[in-house]
Amino acid sequence: MALSPEEFYDHALAAADGERRLPLARMTGWDISPFEQDGLRVSPLRPPVLPETARHGEDPADCRNCRDRDEGIWFNDRWRLARVPGVGVPLVLMLYPRDHHDMADLPDELAAELGLLTTRIVRHMQALPHVSRAHVYRIGDGAAHLHVWFFARPEGQAQLYGSWLVVWDDLLPEYPADVADADAATVAGALIGSHGGRRDPA
Ligand SMILES: [Zn+2]
Repeated sequence: MALSPEEFYDHALAAADGERRLPLARMTGWDISPFEQDGLRVSPLRPPVLPETARHGEDPADCRNCRDRDEGIWFNDRWRLARVPGVGVPLVLMLYPRDHHDMADLPDELAAELGLLTTRIVRHMQALPHVSRAHVYRIGDGAAHLHVWFFARPEGQAQLYGSWLVVWDDLLPEYPADVADADAATVAGALIGSHGGRRDPA
């Protein structure tokens, strides 16, 4: 059984200093780290918060991802794909089921299609000129309605390799929206070719 919240907190605190700060992560020593270790310090550990804060859309009646079921660049009857604006990397896409499901309660038919869609979206993003990789993330601590992230890594920018990419994305200036819109449209067209679906919600 996993450690209880109190046990986990005590376990972490045992490695922290008198201000409850852990030592710097190994990742900050990697040469792809966006931060230099000199002057950097870790936030003090906070005790567990129970019960946990409710996520957005736990009640489907208040869920923005249900309300926005017709927003996006590609659709079929079960899924929609949208471009996330205001990012620093060349393209960030988000895949949602059109009906209200979280990952753990996704019906088998949708789960199987998620595998196909994930593979095909990655393939089409990586086919874009000057995009080397599409990274896939599902986290789900903020919103209850399943949303899967696809992050395009720009070609040749070797500092942006790997798991720090989402932090670099937050640091970089906003990527030109017209370029991202055109690339998103290319991915949508390729996805219609490989998986079916359409550019309009209905
Ligand atoms: Zn929803």
